[in-house]
Amino acid sequence: MPSLVVIGAQWGDEGKGKLVDYLTANADYSVRFQGGNNAGHTLVVDGKKTKLSLIPSGILREECTCLIGAGVVVDPSHFLKEVDELAAVGVDTSTGRLVIDREAHLVMPYHQAVDRAREIARGKDAIGTTGRGIGPAYEDRARRCGVRFADLLALDDLKPRLEKIVDERNRYLKAILESDEQVDFSELWANLTDVATRVAPYIGNVGVSVDKALRRGKQVVFEGAQGTLLDQSFGTVPFVTSSHTTAGAVSIGTGIGPRLLDHVLGVAKAYTTRVGAGPFPTELDDEIGNYLGEKGNEFGTVTGRQRRCGWFDAVAMRRSVRLNGFDSLALTKLDVLSGLEKLKICVRYTLDGEFTEDVPAVASELERVKPEYIELSGWEEDISGITKWHKLPDAARLYIS
Ligand code: IMP
Ligand code: MG
Repeated sequence: MPSLVVIGAQWGDEGKGKLVDYLTANADYSVRFQGGNNAGHTLVVDGKKTKLSLIPSGILREECTCLIGAGVVVDPSHFLKEVDELAAVGVDTSTGRLVIDREAHLVMPYHQAVDRAREIARGKDAIGTTGRGIGPAYEDRARRCGVRFADLLALDDLKPRLEKIVDERNRYLKAILESDEQVDFSELWANLTDVATRVAPYIGNVGVSVDKALRRGKQVVFEGAQGTLLDQSFGTVPFVTSSHTTAGAVSIGTGIGPRLLDHVLGVAKAYTTRVGAGPFPTELDDEIGNYLGEKGNEFGTVTGRQRRCGWFDAVAMRRSVRLNGFDSLALTKLDVLSGLEKLKICVRYTLDGEFTEDVPAVASELERVKPEYIELSGWEEDISGITKWHKLPDAARLYIS
């Protein structure tokens, strides 16, 4: 099983990072293929906490080469900050083992300004983005006016083009979004040329590396960010991120053919959480929701926001299984459920009195669905140290089944 894809099966924060840490123990490569520094993963190195958003988690494994594919949008200053933080705790971040694809797009200061100004302009209808400029950066990719890492190696060509882009974005910020934020081109350019000098040695061709590696039987772990229900097409639109978060994104976000992928592992929490706005049928606005939030330490890695909590949603999971074609599923945080008397699992939605075959596509319909639950007994025991299936309490085994 040389290539393994790890995908969030819900709204993100399922514990993918932890799984990837574990799975890269024997991996030769760890690869990011979508998202940007809206993702977040807390690592503990020698007792010191390090938060990674861009650099693949495999960086902690000495034998593992870390690649950032063309499908990722990269804020270069943030990338260098992570490099410095890792170097400070003794992690090897030399250019040979950390590569950004030449065709990956940059997240620029004007993307962040637009992201923030739009959220303010949306008022109570805000999406609750991470404010990292991810959406506007992907938009520019689709509009064919993005800046790519390859452009940092041809600065003379980039300069006049970028000057026009910045001017256009400033006018958009002022006139359409009525924002006071403006981006100063000379400042941006000075900063970008500095950053380019430091980033240049990290730029490479990720597609070629991964293709070669897989044909030579190397072990490659593809590390998804966010989760399936945040996919820009198949998530809970418009309350989604701006990239494809499903397994299909690996091929186009890396630059390899889809038939090179051997195994797709979904990661799901034993309950459900969501950060930011948008429909969430099984959300719990009561003391059980608070219990899950506190016991599960449900606070965002990137923004520190409290995550919304609810019961496990098997309707959404069925959709997630189809969208990704999971070969297996890792269930995390089961121990958080210990101590709850009753547990519920949503098995069907009804919308205006009728069962829905799939998750509705319109947000207002998804807001209106009535989740139908099966109820199961909980368990009291602390199960956090259990590593064998037969040692789990009967109720926990039944819940998983
Ligand atoms: P954006 O990706 O910053 O544009 O945010 C869009 C939506 O995706 C918001 O609801 C965010 O809270 C959510 N989101 C983005 N990245 C993550 C993540 O890594 N985990 C969980 N939610 C995320
Ligand atoms: Mg996260």
